[in-house]
Amino acid sequence: SGLFLGNRYESTAAASDAATPPPAEKYEYQAEVSRLMDLIVNSLYSNKEVFLRELISNASDALDKLRYLSVTQPELLRDTVDLDIRIQTDKDNGTVTIIDSGIGMTRQELIDCLGTIAQSGTAKFLKAVKESKDSGADSNLIGQFGVGFYSAFLVSDRVVVSTKSPKSDKQYVWEGEANASSYTIREETDPEKHIPRGTCLTLYLKNDDKGFAHPERIQKLVKNYSQFVSFPIYTWHEKG
Ligand code: ADP
Ligand code: MG
Repeated sequence: SGLFLGNRYESTAAASDAATPPPAEKYEYQAEVSRLMDLIVNSLYSNKEVFLRELISNASDALDKLRYLSVTQPELLRDTVDLDIRIQTDKDNGTVTIIDSGIGMTRQELIDCLGTIAQSGTAKFLKAVKESKDSGADSNLIGQFGVGFYSAFLVSDRVVVSTKSPKSDKQYVWEGEANASSYTIREETDPEKHIPRGTCLTLYLKNDDKGFAHPERIQKLVKNYSQFVSFPIYTWHEKG
């Protein structure tokens, strides 16, 4: 069992790109997102493994979007990578990485999708939290409504999303930390990290949650979720 990012993820960047990396830009979360992040980071929610279900479902949605759009725009598939999901665990570094070869995100889409609340599940969650006078209800509501991407912060101190949309020539990196009111976006200038298409999301697990970097743990969870996903899910782990 080793690393899989072999030749298929060959860099297409010119060497000069790496010489002058543009600085990361800082963005404030929308107020609702900050509130949601606070609730997630401070919650005593015990069913933390839902993060994997949420992130696999996002990967699957991204692959669905690509497949759908490719019917009328077959050129979207020109970088002939398979439509699949890869999950890599690294016990020594305490990380879990989820990679999909789906539609990816442009810089603007990163801002729109991972900094604001535009979609229904999390909006309903916040509404329900507001309506419930019982502060202890927060925990159950997380499971009931799902908190999408932000559920990554149930188990992570830091989340790094590197993504490449077929609409953009460039790959971008979104980086956020638990307990922070802002996130950063920068261009991916490291040729070794370039992907032809899709999204590579790395979770830097909290000390108490490093158990999720154990391959057996992830494989067991993936087995449960994969029956609902129509794309292959491969798991890999770093030697160690
Ligand atoms: P939802 O999936 O309900 O829309 P999420 O919080 O899970 O809400 O995700 C927010 C948005 O971020 C998604 O709608 C999608 O546009 C974008 N997104 C998240 N993960 C990915 C991914 N792996 N690939 C492409 N886009 C993604
Ligand atoms: Mg989702």
